Amino acid sequence: MEGIAEVKLEQVRICDLDALKKHIHTRIPTIYTASKTSTVIPFELIEQERFHFRPVATIARLVLADLTMLPKRITLLENCLVRLEGAVTWEELRLFLKEQGLDLKVAPTDESASVLGGVATAASGERSFAFGNVRAQIVAVEFMDYKGEVQRLLRAKKLHSDALIDFVPYQQKLAAYHQHHFKNPHAPYMEYESDLMIGTEGQLGVIVAIEMEVTSLVDHSYFAIMLPRWEKGHFWHQQIFNFLQQFCRKDNKDNTEEAPLVWAAEFLDANSLTLLRMSDQESVLKCIDNFPPDQDVLFLEVTSAALDDFYDKLIAFFENENNESNEHVLSMDRIMQLPCEDYHCLRVAVPRTIQESNARKGVTKKGTDLQVAAHDFPKLLDLYLEARKIEESYLFGHFASAHLHFNFTPKSSDGHAISKCDQFLEELYKKIALKKDPFVLCSPFAEHGVGVLKKKFMQDFYGEVEQELFKKLKDRYDPYRQFFPHGFMSL
Ligand SMILES: Cc1cc2nc3c(=O)[nH]c(=O)nc-3n(C[C@H](O)[C@H](O)[C@H](O)COP(=O)(O)OP(=O)(O)OC[C@H]3O[C@@H](n4cnc5c(N)ncnc54)[C@H](O)[C@@H]3O)c2cc1C
Repeated sequence: MEGIAEVKLEQVRICDLDALKKHIHTRIPTIYTASKTSTVIPFELIEQERFHFRPVATIARLVLADLTMLPKRITLLENCLVRLEGAVTWEELRLFLKEQGLDLKVAPTDESASVLGGVATAASGERSFAFGNVRAQIVAVEFMDYKGEVQRLLRAKKLHSDALIDFVPYQQKLAAYHQHHFKNPHAPYMEYESDLMIGTEGQLGVIVAIEMEVTSLVDHSYFAIMLPRWEKGHFWHQQIFNFLQQFCRKDNKDNTEEAPLVWAAEFLDANSLTLLRMSDQESVLKCIDNFPPDQDVLFLEVTSAALDDFYDKLIAFFENENNESNEHVLSMDRIMQLPCEDYHCLRVAVPRTIQESNARKGVTKKGTDLQVAAHDFPKLLDLYLEARKIEESYLFGHFASAHLHFNFTPKSSDGHAISKCDQFLEELYKKIALKKDPFVLCSPFAEHGVGVLKKKFMQDFYGEVEQELFKKLKDRYDPYRQFFPHGFMSL
């Protein structure tokens, strides 16, 4: 089990903003929770008092404050701008928008997660290939501060240094990640006022409302492309990755009126599909039946109105590649269209099954999700190939953003396997933090955040610049150290 310090745990429910204010005034160290889908905070173990936090001096008491009872409200402010309050989930927001002829630009795979939790963790998900992560869409954030007052932060206002806080050295350190379009580097981007609440995981206050850009609802079509197993050679994975880059909106902004052509390109490897074949859910088994065994699958979400155009491009790409290479030929019958429901059903089932299986075994997550710059995509697969040799594992995720999730699933009884996975991950994080080969830039925090499980890796990522800024932000926004005091800002 992680960490060492014992903490006395209490749980409370927050039903309205007055109750929130009252709780904040107690100044008791608190983690404010929403849907509890975080994969880097093992809520079940914490609640059963089976998780021991890494010590933060003086913290002997901790409250888990449930925000899911906060009254929910969604209001359409103007075309393509929505305001929401309380613990609205992504699914609730998507259904509300659908009735207005609108749609989400951010699509985290688990729609039961809350939108405000998504803001706190800088969620990205499937559509960030087309629209960037949640940060690119947030216009305003309202949060309750340590005095119990609601403050409003705007994207339109840049964060300026003052006598106490200098943002410049920190911004300079993250500039290269920005340039290469990383969704989230090792520490939150700090450019606009609203960034203070995005990706800071509730360590500076409690988010109570946001205003967010959305987009027009368009009809989508879904393709699956069957590929040979990536670990046996990833020629086609690389070629298709390169082909898809022409559809990526690198500026992370929807500047045009036109809908993007490709909204998402999501990957499930053959091992992930095998895992689903053992599912006890009828719906999953029904969908998986359509897929041949021993193949990886790449799913594409495409604007239906541009389907013919896209299909022609895809076929031309396949023909060209097949003509160029005698060695790697892929027949067109590997491309099939599928219903939207099947895509979503299979895509979400993989991380859910892994998370549930870990929780049942009492094993904390043994995995990571690395995002690399596009030119490093082949190196990313090579690196995961090394990991695959260690233990049973699964590879899936946001293919075209060069951002793939890798998870080991060791048995709880196999201490040797668990420590091999831990050792691999520790060495991996160290290598990435020290910017050693194979990547100059790589982020193991592109989504999900740091939580408490990844905190042990952070020491190598944060130099003086990060630590100094975090301390000053905590001094200003959390002087009593009551907001998620076990988070990454308090190493
Ligand atoms: C199957 C599965 C798929 C997933 N897919 C994705 C994905 O595609 N993209 C992605 O980004 N993530 C994904 N995640 C991770 C997870 O859903 C996100 O981290 C999510 O944003 C957490 O939202 P939540 O409501 O569950 O928050 P919780 O898990 O309850 O809390 C997460 C963190 O947010 C803080 N927090 C929550 N609400 C507030 C608030 N109102 N104010 C301040 N802080 C707050 C908490 O203190 C905590 O630090 C996935 C998880 C699972 C299990």
